[in-house]
Amino acid sequence: MVPSMESPRVPPLARFIARLVGGGRTDVRALQNVLALQGAVRFTVLMGITVLVPAILLSWFALSDIRAEELYFDAETERGADAAAAKMLHEIDARLSAVESATIDRLNRGQPPVIGLAELSPYLRAALVLDDDGKLVAPLTLDAIPELAPPNGAYRHAFGDGQIADLRGRYDEAAAAYRNAARYAADPVRAGTASFAQARSLSRAGRTGAADRAYQDVYADYTNVRDERGFLFGDLASLQRIRLASDPDTRRVALEEIVQRLLDPDTRWVIGQGGEAALASAAIDELDGKSDPYWVAQARQLLDDRLAQMRWVEERTDELELFDIQSQDVDGKFNYFPTHESDSLWTTVTWEDRTYIFSWDYGGLIGGLQDAIRRDPDLDPSFTASLLRAKTAPPTGVLVREQLPKLTDLNLAVAPADPASLDAQKRQRRTVRSIVVFLAVGMSVIGIVLAGRMLAAELEIARMKTDFAANVSHELRSPITQIRLKGEALQLDLVFDDADRQAHYDAIVREAERLSRLVDNVLDFAAIETGAKKYTFRPEDIGEILTNSVDSARGALEAQGLRVTITIADHLPVVWVDREALGQVIQNLLSNAAKYGADGGWIGVSADLDGDNVAVSVSDGGMGIKPADLDKIWDRFYRSSDPKVRRKRGTGIGLPIVRYIVEAHGGEITVDSAVGRGTTFTFTLPLAPRDTGA
Ligand code: ADP
Repeated sequence: MVPSMESPRVPPLARFIARLVGGGRTDVRALQNVLALQGAVRFTVLMGITVLVPAILLSWFALSDIRAEELYFDAETERGADAAAAKMLHEIDARLSAVESATIDRLNRGQPPVIGLAELSPYLRAALVLDDDGKLVAPLTLDAIPELAPPNGAYRHAFGDGQIADLRGRYDEAAAAYRNAARYAADPVRAGTASFAQARSLSRAGRTGAADRAYQDVYADYTNVRDERGFLFGDLASLQRIRLASDPDTRRVALEEIVQRLLDPDTRWVIGQGGEAALASAAIDELDGKSDPYWVAQARQLLDDRLAQMRWVEERTDELELFDIQSQDVDGKFNYFPTHESDSLWTTVTWEDRTYIFSWDYGGLIGGLQDAIRRDPDLDPSFTASLLRAKTAPPTGVLVREQLPKLTDLNLAVAPADPASLDAQKRQRRTVRSIVVFLAVGMSVIGIVLAGRMLAAELEIARMKTDFAANVSHELRSPITQIRLKGEALQLDLVFDDADRQAHYDAIVREAERLSRLVDNVLDFAAIETGAKKYTFRPEDIGEILTNSVDSARGALEAQGLRVTITIADHLPVVWVDREALGQVIQNLLSNAAKYGADGGWIGVSADLDGDNVAVSVSDGGMGIKPADLDKIWDRFYRSSDPKVRRKRGTGIGLPIVRYIVEAHGGEITVDSAVGRGTTFTFTLPLAPRDTGA
């Protein structure tokens, strides 16, 4: 129902706005518009609160979450790097600890860890032993060769005589001269040198027994005295005595003994002097082919090892003073002293009053550890680990940098293996999330727009229904009023003459017909809407139906000053139609042509054969239909918003009924219109009887 101004259901605000819009008057339409507007506003606010605001809030959270997720991703990566670093550190520590425990094992078994260093670690280069005073005791010492004072004149004289006699081959004479020199010597080095020369000359003279005795004396008196080249007289004398021995087995055993003694870890070799090495080497050479070859090879290996150790330490003697060897008081505790200048690492361990010092090839050790961590199959392949000197700047992208617990000057640096792919991964996550968020917001906006449009359409239909109700009541009232007026005039005999009376009768009939058309339309429409409409098809003469319809309307049309022409083609075939329904189609089209046609204009009705159909047209020369309205005029309740149309009374159900009926007959209806020039509706009816719509 049309809301009236007095209706208590119209809110006062709506009424107020309607009054504003309607320029002080609250007419029904203004009120309707305001109500529709109110509905739209309510819808927008509701949608905003229930859909858009949550969508925007969610998007905002989702977008800010992207940053949080990135931070989480970074933290995850760092956690991974931390774990990898911890593993690597453990691995490195384990390697060093293995060397430590192997060393302690040896010490426990009473085997000095100064030989066979390669078995402890391939990077160990030398090992030294210190006594509890911190003095080097084995296998090398740092004893300096004492400076010799210049020889006295008597010694020089006697020794010179000996040398000349030696050169001339007078060996007995030489031996005597040397004995004298030994007597004159002011220091044990020169005394030993002269005594040794005496024994050699006796040997050259062929006096083997005397020579052997002389060597024995040298051994007894000067065992631990070194000659000017660093050889111990004891060693030299032993070697010469062995050479004098006639029995090869005795010689071999004695030589083996001397080699063993020289290579014994407790035999100190003096750093910077090659005496022991040269003697051992000479003795081993002599044993070659005489002793067990395996024994010889082993001895040579020991000699080489020891020589290599000695050379290694010789280059680093200065460093021995760089670290505090005395400081260890806990047995078995290893201390590490890295020295980068010479790429050496020293470790010390104290064990039962002795301190062992090891010198490492530091560069080699670092390289080895580096290799090991690089090849570690357990390392997460998304990271790379490397060892850095503590003070070097870390390479870019390093995630974790940690000091090695034992080698404190080294840092373990863990970096992503492929930083570019890490970044790409991050970017991709960000993009995917953003797309999802924007899609979600976009969809809710689209949803709101679609819902709004649907609502607008619904509101429009509701508005049209209201219009329809208003229009129908209006349409009903005017013929009823007319009939009543004319009837009352006749009843009270208020007519002038017969012609006037006739005019009154005609008017009553015309208005009654109009009334019945309207009622027919409304009832038909209701039946069509509920699907209850039924048609009865019979073979009919289309020309006759058209003529009858036009004739029954002609009076009313001509009363409006309209001229109607009808053109029916000859011999039109019979069509299967519902006579009454077809009549209603023609009536509706004629009534529209009259309403929207030009005043005093013309209406043309025609029928002709068109292929398998009969085509019927109703034309007028009226206002025409705007192209934008051409599609909408078939919608129920639709009435053009054009004021020229609005001035005419109508309900908006005429054309939908027409189309329904035509289509129920299996035909089609089209419209051809030009604004200001007129309109032609043409519908077809198929010739063959059809079983449709009924
Ligand atoms: P009503 O005529 O009751 O408004 P209809 O369904 O018969 O309803 O027509 C729908 C609309 O089509 C009309 O409001 C009008 O705008 C347009 N229309 C119909 N016939 C014509 C015509 N012959 N000339 C111009 N406009 C027309």
